[in-house]
This record gives sequence, structure tokens and C-alpha cells, in this order.
Amino acid sequence: MGEVTMQCNICQNISNKKFTARVLNKYDVDYFYCSTCGFLQTEKPYWLEEAYRESITLSDTGILERNLLFAKDIALLLATFFSIQGKYLDFAGGYGIFTRLMRDIGFDFYWSDSYTKNLIARGFEYSDSIHPIEAITTFETFEHFVQPIQEIEKLLSISKNIIFSTQLLPDNVPKPEQWWYYVFEHGQHVSFYSKRTLEYIAQKYSLNFYSFGHFHVFTAKRLNKAYLKFILGYQHYGIRKIILKKLVSKTFSDFESFRSKK
Ligand SMILES: [Zn+2]
Repeated sequence: MGEVTMQCNICQNISNKKFTARVLNKYDVDYFYCSTCGFLQTEKPYWLEEAYRESITLSDTGILERNLLFAKDIALLLATFFSIQGKYLDFAGGYGIFTRLMRDIGFDFYWSDSYTKNLIARGFEYSDSIHPIEAITTFETFEHFVQPIQEIEKLLSISKNIIFSTQLLPDNVPKPEQWWYYVFEHGQHVSFYSKRTLEYIAQKYSLNFYSFGHFHVFTAKRLNKAYLKFILGYQHYGIRKIILKKLVSKTFSDFESFRSKK
């Protein structure tokens, strides 16, 4: 029998055992819920090496569709509230698909990922010399963080604006069979954030927190949420073109800069 409580990885208060589930079809893993900040975490994850043998899982059939959709919406968000000349980092950017798409739209995006090989955005690897970073995007990463506070602080040291996606944990913690986002079979999701958890984190770092459908934002800025909702909702009525009109695609200029380096 394992422990019945552990310390919450977000707020350090007591987290209580909520349920046990079978991970990677072989490990019985305890999940702990903190009622103070609404965060659900697994016990110390000893199975990750096995879980990450393939960093992008075989079952990720939505990889291209998701990147296209995200690039479209994030371009509007960035052009509305952030600098169109700024530099951006796609943290844990996988194969580099999103970085390339954003450069194609006209944003100066860079890629980093400790676990996956950059295939699509080669030549645009992030390093400390690339700064300031206007904002970081990072999709489907927070739920993988074993030490979320440490990771978030690392990101905040690069930029105070973080745009990310993760599915919000409902206030009534779903039973194991009730929520697909636990994905017990691949064992990579170990941290689950409710809206309350994200609000707690924002407050801890004196940031504002916003949610827009798939996306969440930690930012030092104040964003007009209604305005962005309007733009995202009516983007097909010519508004998209107006908002993005100052951006110049880097598809060809990137090509030329590589060619001239030879
Ligand atoms: Zn907590």
C-alpha cells in the first residue's frame, strides 16, 4: 500500500489520494488531489523512462490538424496583443511544425525541445542569445511536467508571457474511466490543472491569467478578452486579413538566408 497523502507540487499543501489506476498497462499508480489549489498529480513517476521511449506517441493522429489550427488562432492572438516584430519561442516544439508555420505567417519564431528532434524548423533553434523573447508558446506540455513550478519558473525567466494548452481538470475530479485526458496507457500525463490551479500560479507570480478555448495565457499584460473572442469568432469575415496585414511571411526570406550562408 502506498501513501495516502503527499505534498502538492504546486502549492505545497497536503494532497490526498484520490484513486489508483493502471499506467502503461502494468503499474498501479496513485493519483493525489490538492483541495487547496485544485491540482491533481500522480505519485512520484518512476515509469517515465519507459513512457518516453517514443516522445511523440504512435496514437497522435491529430498532430498536423492541431498545429494548423493552433497556428491560425495564435497568429491572431499574437498580432492583437503582442509585438509583430518580437521574437518568440515554441518551447517543447516537437518536430518543429508549429515554429515553421508561424514563420510562414511572418512571426520570428524559434524552437526548443529536449526530447524530440527538430525536423521541420532546422536553423531556428532557440539559444540564450536570442532575446528578448516576447512570448513563449508551449502546447500539451504542462501535463507532462514532473516539477511544474520549477518548469514554469524556467519559462518565466525567458518571458513573462506564456501561451499554453492543456485540458482543464474539472472541479469534480473525474473517475479514471471518465476522462480520456488521463491517458493511462501512455503514462506521460502526470500533472492536471484545474482553472483554480492556473489562477493560483498566476497570482503567485503576479501575472494575469486568461483562457481562450484551447489556450491559456499567463501574462504581465492586461488583455481585452472580449475583443479577442470577437476576432477569433469572426475571423472569416475579412478581419483576419486586416489584423495580419502587416506581417510578411518568412518562407522565402528564410530560404534566401540559408542559401546565402552556403
Ligand atoms: Zn495544491
